[in-house]
Amino acid sequence: MPILTLAMPTPLRRSFDYLPPVAMTDDAVAALQPGVRIEAPFGNRKLIGILLATKDTTDIDEKKIKRVSNILDSQPILAGKLLSLSQWAASYYQHPLGDALANAIPTLLRKGEQTIELTETRWQLTTEGKGLPEGALKRAAKQAQLLALLQQQDSLDRRQLDRAQISQASCKALIEKGLIERIEIAATPYDHQQDCLKSAPLTLNAEQKNAVETIKANTGFQCYLLEGITGSGKTEVYLQLIEQCLKRRQQALVLIPEIGLTPQTLSRFQNRFNCPIVTLHSGLTDRERLLAWQHAQSGEAGIILGTRSAIFTAIANLGLIIIDEEHDSSFKQQDGFRYSARDIGIKRAADEQCPIVLGSATPSLETLNNALQGRYQHLQLKQRATGASAPTFELLDIRHAPMEDGFSPALISAIGDEIKRGNQVLVFINRRGFSPMLMCHDCGYVAQCHHCDARMTVHFQQRMLRCHHCGAQAPLPHHCPECNSTQLDFRGSGTERSEQALKRLFPSTDIKRIDRDTTSRKQAMQQMVAEVHEGQPCILVGTQMLAKGHHFPDVTLVAVLDADGGLFSADFRGPEKMGQLLVQVAGRAGREAKAGKVIIQTHQPEHPLITSLVNDSYHQYARAILSERQASGLPPFGHLALLRAEASNLEQAEALLQNLRDAAPPNSCQIFGPLPAPMTRKAGRFRAQLLVRSDQRKPLHQTLQQLCSQAEQHPLGNKVRWSIDVDPGDMF
Ligand code: ADP
Ligand code: ZN
Ligand code: ZN
Repeated sequence: MPILTLAMPTPLRRSFDYLPPVAMTDDAVAALQPGVRIEAPFGNRKLIGILLATKDTTDIDEKKIKRVSNILDSQPILAGKLLSLSQWAASYYQHPLGDALANAIPTLLRKGEQTIELTETRWQLTTEGKGLPEGALKRAAKQAQLLALLQQQDSLDRRQLDRAQISQASCKALIEKGLIERIEIAATPYDHQQDCLKSAPLTLNAEQKNAVETIKANTGFQCYLLEGITGSGKTEVYLQLIEQCLKRRQQALVLIPEIGLTPQTLSRFQNRFNCPIVTLHSGLTDRERLLAWQHAQSGEAGIILGTRSAIFTAIANLGLIIIDEEHDSSFKQQDGFRYSARDIGIKRAADEQCPIVLGSATPSLETLNNALQGRYQHLQLKQRATGASAPTFELLDIRHAPMEDGFSPALISAIGDEIKRGNQVLVFINRRGFSPMLMCHDCGYVAQCHHCDARMTVHFQQRMLRCHHCGAQAPLPHHCPECNSTQLDFRGSGTERSEQALKRLFPSTDIKRIDRDTTSRKQAMQQMVAEVHEGQPCILVGTQMLAKGHHFPDVTLVAVLDADGGLFSADFRGPEKMGQLLVQVAGRAGREAKAGKVIIQTHQPEHPLITSLVNDSYHQYARAILSERQASGLPPFGHLALLRAEASNLEQAEALLQNLRDAAPPNSCQIFGPLPAPMTRKAGRFRAQLLVRSDQRKPLHQTLQQLCSQAEQHPLGNKVRWSIDVDPGDMF
């Protein structure tokens, strides 16, 4: 009896056996390929699963086993190496298999729709056009040129027209004259090798050249860390590696952190290459996403540029993976399927036997350690590619300084000096809103969120209090709700308050605020960045959004209003993240002809982490915190997983975790907790956690498997929501 084993999109960590459709012959069943979609009854619904295997026997009772209802594909949607990669990821991250596989295919396919037929538009002569005498249409030169071209070649596509500099208007004119026509034909695979360059590559400096040559020499699997300071020309290295990849007739997969970066990066790629480039990010419609996915899968797209989830794109002939800003936390999914696209990328490159390049000015400690241990090949770019010097750092001790909304007198005068010289200034404060705390001066009342263990943030322009953790909001009160006093104080600053202060201090200067609140409108960010690029003196004030990838050539001063927050973070990654953020923000300054300066305000001018950041390179700073991690057995010197649980009361959440802990297998793993989460109450739910630590992966994996299967069957399982996070990015 032939049996089909399917992965079904359910929260259960297992596969399901079914019988094939009645009408299906044994031969047809045997010919089914893993990775095809199959619709099957599940409970009282029908779900779309993915075929994992066919086999002859099952443990399920003959009378109970159900039949699948419909086989959707003749060719697998999730084939070969990508299917096994997804299975590996489900197991590594202890995530339900069906959901992990569903995650790897575009939404429309998940819903059961068919793939779109890929066509391409071409232009050809009509019968009338063919009959035209030579030299006709002499007065319309472009139209005549197009006719002549079409007399030589049967038809032309958009790219060929672009190359001949023939506009849409010329085509349209000839169509209206009835001489040419537009046709849609089945897409032919694009030959990437064929004149893949649109513009000439830059001449590499010695460090860049060394990087390109080293990676070029190897076409098999190897992981590279490209550690290059901001502005050192990492992107140019990527471009030249991609060129090599295209010339080998292979496709390149490039992952970048943020959707905001896509247009900028995309245009750099489009200016260099002729080949089709697809982008995959959360801003696409389902149909656009499916089309992009198909172009990658069919081999049509030479370059696939995307954010985190693009790591699962089916790619016909993958030859290179690049993860830009590999340290960025957005590569780790923070809910549901908590995978790291960077780590899956490395596994994928190993499976596909292709090189992978992790690029960053501020590599994560995990990656840096792998490079220092020799597991990754370490390539460094220590100079700025344009010849600009790296910015100088200055610590500003603000103890005792009379502060004006977060600005010390020395900083105010430094900003004023740059503006007078006609330069631009960037002010960084990693907190949005007006103020993080509303306090009554008379009774000490503090505005708290009713649903979270957190304070409400004041958004002054909108006269609102907002919780940045659950989204709760309330009107800004005029009186203290406790004692009715009107003496309400705003404690501390966010971007909105800094913006207001700057407007007051520099009334004739253009001040631009860049944070989530001012850039929520589509294109708002791009528009502001474009205005900054015009080069007029201005002051930019914003959050970490400013630190990411942008290039502001006229910014000569970067001011960090408050560097101290990261020093006292509850998270063991606090110092690493603080260092990365400050170095990335600093990297926006003085990228071209003008020299740059970074001023950091601090109350801790002697703190060893702060002084190390200012006096040493990020590399040295990172090595120092790496040895602290080693001393305490924290990643990358030990492996962690976090089991989180939340319920309407803390006791239930902790009870589930305690039960699981009691059932853990006896091995070398250490288990800590259950403990209340750092922010115990969030959005009205109480949260607790269990931390599992191990020197080796194997016992960790064993323990997690056991914990998950216990949790799935536990009677508290329907009251307590639990999730597992392997290699957690943060501990909240
Ligand atoms: P990174 O990605 O390392 O921050 P970029 O690739 O954005 O750096 O390069 C910074 C600037 O240097 C860009 O304007 C780029 O055009 C320029 N650049 C890069 N490589 C070279 C080179 N070999 N010669 C001249 N300019 C270069
Ligand atoms: Zn009060
Ligand atoms: Zn809240």
